[in-house]
Amino acid sequence: MEHYERQLEEARQFIAARDDFLVVSHVQPDGDAASSTVAVGWLLAQLGKTFCMINEGSVPQRLSYLWSYDRIVNYAEQPPRRQFQNVICVDCADFARVGKVGQLFAEGADVLNIDHHPTNDSYGSVNLIKADAAATAEILFDLLKRFEIEWSLDIAEAIYTGLLTDTGGFRYSNTTPKVMAAASELLQYGVKGHQLADHLLEQLTMPHVLLLTKALSRLSFAANNKIGWIYVTPEDMRETGAVNDDLEGLVNYPRNIEGVEVGILFKQIDNEAVKVSMRSGPGANVAEIAHSLGGGGHVRAAGCKVYGALDDVIKQVIERVKQAL
Ligand code: 5GP
Ligand code: MN
Repeated sequence: MEHYERQLEEARQFIAARDDFLVVSHVQPDGDAASSTVAVGWLLAQLGKTFCMINEGSVPQRLSYLWSYDRIVNYAEQPPRRQFQNVICVDCADFARVGKVGQLFAEGADVLNIDHHPTNDSYGSVNLIKADAAATAEILFDLLKRFEIEWSLDIAEAIYTGLLTDTGGFRYSNTTPKVMAAASELLQYGVKGHQLADHLLEQLTMPHVLLLTKALSRLSFAANNKIGWIYVTPEDMRETGAVNDDLEGLVNYPRNIEGVEVGILFKQIDNEAVKVSMRSGPGANVAEIAHSLGGGGHVRAAGCKVYGALDDVIKQVIERVKQAL
């Protein structure tokens, strides 16, 4: 049996043999993370299993149409007073990505790790990792096919959302024939693809636009314009009324400029730490760069958290990117 097929079967058995699950994804969940969380929850509900979906923080409001969005517990607001023996992690490249929810894992917990990041370190007891999958939702599409359950609009919409967001609207190089075939099948359940694309990819929040004007006014370049970057500070966030969700897509501006090979967004968290988002063209592997800085991600989209003052972090990261180019 092919490696991926064997992993799918192990994952199926992991789920079939157990009950009472914790389902968790990464901190500051994106479309794929949230969709994958509810897709696993939906599967468990179909199988008559009990489960708890938890994230370290809130899940973006724009994803509130997802099945059982309201059931995803915000750990920061209501930390459950119990631990779980059975855990399913989705879209998390390493254990640290689950954040504080890791405290809910029982000692020696059985962990099913479902992910598509090439930097995944196989931290699970069972690992279902497909590094060339466009989204974790694509892996779940395959996994859910292995159960005898009736598919519905709810699950189709969730999986479609993960595919749509992680492929940038079916445009990135991870948009394979398999992704398009899956999307085609999901549309047949009644998913309104155009409405989701407009809602998730076209609509801009007002704080996002205000933040964009500030960020672009500081657009800077290095290495003969092969590196382009912008930054935002906590003051910018306050002044524009922005929350983390409003940062989505900002990093694409430096990245999309002619000649730029690596686009970077530096988001100052406080005086001690900066969140770094990187996007690259075919010339650079930002997963490797982010990994060398303690983070991870994909070849074309990766990130990390770097400790230090904003100016120092910018210098350090630009130097590292220059070396990589
Ligand atoms: P973003 O820049 O949109 O936050 O993240 C881009 C990609 O890099 C995503 O696939 C995300 O999971 C990954 N990523 C972002 N920040 C980190 C990090 O601190 N650690 C790891 N391991 N991956 C990250
Ligand atoms: Mn993903």
